[in-house]
Amino acid sequence: MTVLHDVVNPATEELVASVPSLSLEEVDDAIARSRRAFGTWRHVSPGDRARLLRRFSALVDEHLEELAQLEVRNAGHTIGNARWEAGNVRDVLAYYSGAPERLLGHQIPVAGGLDVTFHEPLGVVGVIVPWNFPMPIAGWGFAPALAAGNTVVLKPAELTPLTAVRIAELGLEAGLPEDVFQVLTGKGSIVGERFVTHPDVAKVVFTGSTEVGSHVAEGCARQVKPVTLELGGKSANVVFADADLAKAAATAPYAVFDNAGQDCCARSRILVQRSVMDDFLAMLETAVLGVRVEDPTLDTSEMGPLISAGHRDSVAAYITESTNVVIRGSVPEGPGFWYPATVVVPSTEDDPLMQEETFGPIVAVMPFDDEADAVRLTNATPYGLSGSIWTRDVGRAIRVSRGIEAGNLSVNSHSSVRYWTPFGGFKKSGLGRELGPDALHAFTEVKNVFISTEG
Ligand code: NAD
Repeated sequence: MTVLHDVVNPATEELVASVPSLSLEEVDDAIARSRRAFGTWRHVSPGDRARLLRRFSALVDEHLEELAQLEVRNAGHTIGNARWEAGNVRDVLAYYSGAPERLLGHQIPVAGGLDVTFHEPLGVVGVIVPWNFPMPIAGWGFAPALAAGNTVVLKPAELTPLTAVRIAELGLEAGLPEDVFQVLTGKGSIVGERFVTHPDVAKVVFTGSTEVGSHVAEGCARQVKPVTLELGGKSANVVFADADLAKAAATAPYAVFDNAGQDCCARSRILVQRSVMDDFLAMLETAVLGVRVEDPTLDTSEMGPLISAGHRDSVAAYITESTNVVIRGSVPEGPGFWYPATVVVPSTEDDPLMQEETFGPIVAVMPFDDEADAVRLTNATPYGLSGSIWTRDVGRAIRVSRGIEAGNLSVNSHSSVRYWTPFGGFKKSGLGRELGPDALHAFTEVKNVFISTEG
């Protein structure tokens, strides 16, 4: 008998769908089919693999609005964000569709023969996806993995499986052979765990919490299985006194409250040079109160609800009677797992709001004295995923960028993820990089072949 789990709309609390929770036997069966499909997929010629991925990308584009609307219902994302997310899957597929025909090896000068390298696909790749960005994070795994000649089993988060299921249908419609790309819904402890323990899954790509990620890495170590980890963050938005303060303050809320703060790259700490702290906070208040927190189906909506009642409770628990809350936004009345945009000024840098990822719309603001202090404070967390630096001094921007222990920095802006550039974290934010021109190397093994020319 198929066990189902319910998927709920976080903005309305209405049931959206009931989705199968696969059993261990069903997962093993899917992995066996994926392994068989690898036998043919790896031999599809590079040109044909490229053509199939281009067609897949075009179909995602044709269904962009459908996918976006589905994500709004499933994850409570604003419709503007959800359109960007579906567009990102299209773009990442198109970008890596160029890869099969450019997966170049080396010819290395050696004595006595010809030496060449090949980038061989790994086999079945298991991609484990969290609930915060279901579409993009899936695409960053499956698109380069397929392009390199692997087959993919993908496990979406239990709370947000619907767009991944639909995207896999579009892959089939585009002409991907049966079982080359399968989406397996269900529990992390069953489906995800099996990707780690099954000997026929050659690699695991995990995005999620640092806690589960380190457990996944432990299991992969026992199997000597390669793993990419994209984990949590506590990124800093560092504002120097010489910056365009008005622009820094106007944009700061969107760098942390986008997706209701459920973003691994959220700048959930704002570090401000002491001499401009008061001016900055005054401008920040106007900006925070201006964020439109409303029904995510509206084109004007800038922030929706949190993903679940349980997650809202865990975010809310960070604010206690002793928390120094300096700015608080509002939320719509009625159903939905809403939480207001909240700005706090903690008194110490070891306050949990300066150290822990709340994964909600809470930002901590703290002053610093000088450049050295800014770098020290920025690095004073276990994480190192992303961050922003606001200054008009180019030399300082470069020095501070080099000093910060984080994988993705942005100067006088807040961007983190561009599919053309590598993405990933230092320290407890992860292991390995996704996206960019080198991502294919994370889905291949280098093979060296020497051919003797001796007669
Ligand atoms: P989570 O760690 O609870 O779950 C992530 C995925 O792992 C889910 O699909 C879950 O079902 C699965 N899982 C759970 N237990 C498992 C197990 N024992 N073995 C294998 N898989 C298992 O994370 P979440 O709550 O879904 O997502 C939020 C977290 O993800 C945050 O910490 C956030 O920072 C992080 N994140 C990181 C990035 C990044 O790129 N660095 C991006 C997005 C989210």
